[in-house]
Amino acid sequence: MKRLILAGGGHAHLHVLLTLARKKPQGVEIVLISPFGRQIYSGMLPGWMAGHYQLDQCVAYLERLARVAGVRFVQDEVIRLDANCSLIGCAQSGEFGYDLLSIDTGAMADTSTLAATGARLLPIRPLEAFVVGWERQLANFIQTGAARLAVVGAGAAGVELALAARHRLTTMLDKAHVEVFLIEGGGLLRGHGDQVVQRIARELTTRGVQRIASRAAGSPAGLVFPDGSELAIDCVIGTTGVVPAPWIASSGLARADDGFIAVADGQRSASHPQVFAAGDVATRIDQPHAKSGVYAVRAGPALSANLLNTLVGRPIEPHRPQRRSLYLLATGPREAIVSWSGWTSGGAWAWRWKDWIDRRFMKQYAIASSST
Ligand SMILES: Cc1cc2nc3c(=O)[nH]c(=O)nc-3n(C[C@H](O)[C@H](O)[C@H](O)COP(=O)(O)OP(=O)(O)OC[C@H]3O[C@@H](n4cnc5c(N)ncnc54)[C@H](O)[C@@H]3O)c2cc1C
Repeated sequence: MKRLILAGGGHAHLHVLLTLARKKPQGVEIVLISPFGRQIYSGMLPGWMAGHYQLDQCVAYLERLARVAGVRFVQDEVIRLDANCSLIGCAQSGEFGYDLLSIDTGAMADTSTLAATGARLLPIRPLEAFVVGWERQLANFIQTGAARLAVVGAGAAGVELALAARHRLTTMLDKAHVEVFLIEGGGLLRGHGDQVVQRIARELTTRGVQRIASRAAGSPAGLVFPDGSELAIDCVIGTTGVVPAPWIASSGLARADDGFIAVADGQRSASHPQVFAAGDVATRIDQPHAKSGVYAVRAGPALSANLLNTLVGRPIEPHRPQRRSLYLLATGPREAIVSWSGWTSGGAWAWRWKDWIDRRFMKQYAIASSST
């Protein structure tokens, strides 16, 4: 019997599980390896932080989806891969051989410059650790009646998290005792159009987020700036970029310049035809694009088809990533800002649109897993 291993329960693999739930190939053992029994949907995380969602509404239950799809679920973490010998190693469960491997394990938060912040640092990934850390932090803020928080990194995620934190904290504490800083050392919303950046800048100011256009490193008090000045902070949320997991470097797989798995058309590894990868863990060397959830989701159907095609010896299907993508940025209260190819608009209607898209996306996994 052949064995297909799905490493990680990211966005593209959610689609693979749905596909397998509809039609499982014969004569194949399929194994899903994931450290958690659920996948938290990052698109709804700022809404959860702001208090608009229960966490349960923002998760897909991987273990249940795997059961419906007839896939064996191994709750564990991949820690090594030998692509030349087709062996994948887990922290607790040992090694698995495979005939076909699909990797959708995402990226790791790069918070190396913030390490000196110690226990005050709350990295955004893994999301499971982040949600526990944020709830603990909220309880501390409520107890002391005051909050000084900084988000380091002003990409789309950093902006949304700063606005969500500010909104939540001001609904729970006296406004005069809430300070939220956004550290924009790498620029504000790089890659988005000028109009979008200006609109977000206005929104941050209106909502009371204090912007600091400087690089910052961690310090025991919170943050330290290049001129030596320090900012005392209770909680530093790090969204300073992503790096690949260390096991990718030693896997033998071809890697792109950014260190992530190099994949070509159809999400197939550029070096090992029996390995596929999608989402943030992979870099399309033929058609480079930003690392964001939209691309991970859109790769799902092609990845599903190509895994099934490869199992039966059929040629793989091409997958052309879209050139532009729509961003709907949550701004704290039930409002959002649209960023589309340099164009922007926003308000309560944009939140309703985002909310509808996100709930519809998650509903498909809730329906599938409720049939067990
Ligand atoms: C707050 C926030 C908001 C965001 N909002 C948006 C948005 O609105 N739109 C957008 O396009 N992008 C958004 N992003 C970016 C988006 O989260 C990522 O691009 C997206 O999650 C990548 O999907 P993925 O499938 O590659 O990996 P992930 O979603 O990171 O999933 C990886 C999975 O693999 C598992 N895993 C990790 N390591 C291992 C291992 N060693 N072994 C086994 N399993 C492992 C993880 O537990 C997880 O289940 C946001 C990011 C953040 C932080």
